[in-house]
Parts: sequence; C-alpha cells; structure tokens
Amino acid sequence: MDIIRQERHGVSFYACTHPAWAGTAHGFSTRLGGVSPAPWGSMNLGANRGDAPANVEENFRRFCAAVGTDPDALVKNHQVHSGLVRSVGRADVMDSPAAPGVFDADGLVTDEPGVCLTIFSGDCIPILLYDPKARVIAAAHAGWRGTASRIAARAVEAMVLDYGCDPGDILAAIGPGIGPCCFETHADVPDGLRAGLGAEAEPFIHPLPGGEKFTVDLKGANARWLERAGVAPEHIALCPACTACQLDLFWSHRVQGNRRGSMAAMIQLV
Ligand SMILES: [Zn+2]
Repeated sequence: MDIIRQERHGVSFYACTHPAWAGTAHGFSTRLGGVSPAPWGSMNLGANRGDAPANVEENFRRFCAAVGTDPDALVKNHQVHSGLVRSVGRADVMDSPAAPGVFDADGLVTDEPGVCLTIFSGDCIPILLYDPKARVIAAAHAGWRGTASRIAARAVEAMVLDYGCDPGDILAAIGPGIGPCCFETHADVPDGLRAGLGAEAEPFIHPLPGGEKFTVDLKGANARWLERAGVAPEHIALCPACTACQLDLFWSHRVQGNRRGSMAAMIQLV
C-alpha cells in the first residue's frame, strides 16, 4: 500500500489509493491549491496562524471537495503534543470550518459516518487509521513528544477498547512529515523515544559525529508503535515525503518557524 500524490480541482494532496481504503474519504494536504496570501500561501488550513478566517474556510472547502469529505462536518482538536485520544461524534462537529479546535487531544476516533476527523501538522507526523470491518476511523498528530507518548499506539488501543476493533484489521497511513534527513535533535528526543520504545527505538536514532546531536526517524518510530499495538506491517503505508526538504510543497515549522501555514490530514467514513 502506497501513499500517492493526487491532483484534483487544482488541489494537490496525498492519499492511499489502494481499494482497501475505498470505504473512506481521506487525504493529507500540501500547501498548494488554496487562496491564502503569503506567508500562508496558499492552502493554509490552520485556524490560529494569523490568516483571515474567510481564507481558511475557503481553503477547507477546496481541500474537502478534492478529497471527498464534508467541510461542514469537521471535528478538530486543540493539539498539545500529548498521548491523549478522544472519542468524538456528531455533537463535536465545528460550527465553521475555520473555527479552531477546543478540546485538548492529539488523537480523534469515531465510528459515525459523515464525521470528518481533522488533525494538523507542519513537520509533525500525521497518522490516519481505518478498520474496514468494524467501520471505525482515527486520526493522530505525532510530534516527537506525541511519538514518545505512544500516541499512535493509543489511537489503536482506543479503536480496540472503545469500538471493538481487531488490530489485525486496522489499516494505517503515515503521511508527509519531517524525515530523518532533516530532523536533527539534541539528546532529549532520542531519550524520549527510548523511554517509550526501549531498545526498539535504536533503529530510528542516528548519532551525528561529535556525539551530541542526532537525527531521528519519527515516521519509522510511529510505524513501530503501530506494530507494537498489533497493526500488521503490510497494513502500514508510509509516505516518504519530507516536509523540510520540499518547501515548495509543504510548510516546515523547523525551517520557517511561525511564519507559515498549516497542513491538515482528514478522514471520514463514506
Ligand atoms: Zn528532509
């Protein structure tokens, strides 16, 4: 299963085109295809980045039209780099696509068709989950703190414990995010990963010459968490695109700081 770049109505995004995902509408946004001016140009989906709400709303309408989701059924969270996962439904749908999320969480889960789970990233790793048998979906935002807090595994656990999913049925898509090519860290990040994954973190940590800095593979570490939670390796699609390498296509918090827009990943049962 691969995550493939798509183009629809002038909007560029990534999605799993494998037929197993056909019961969902889903996608990972790029910065292309929206209406926002610089420095948010053009597909800014972040509600609190200083962009005009009317632009954010129009961008959501365009992105949702391209992906096949409902812009008037968005459920968002207030992301706090945690391991917190929330079960949500119709009652949690935002009043406006441009409204910011209120509830602290970094993972959302639902079994309600028509509810569009929406998470945000600008280097962090976006993860979408789908159980085609139980018809349950989840979306998670994994920065290094969320990765260390096992957010990916917690999202799977919520699907299993709260909705009766079998982890062996769950499909996972790990979207565009910062790659090991660009994610240079001090010891705090490797230490955080080791605290969660133990020795299994080592393949994702590479010391740089001098021994004080490291490069870290967050996508790989999240795939490992998914496997530890029972997701089959062949059910995990991993997008190799690095947000910090391709500034024409993505925003990167690491490279651009706060003068940037925000990408979104979304999934809805159809
Ligand atoms: Zn890179």
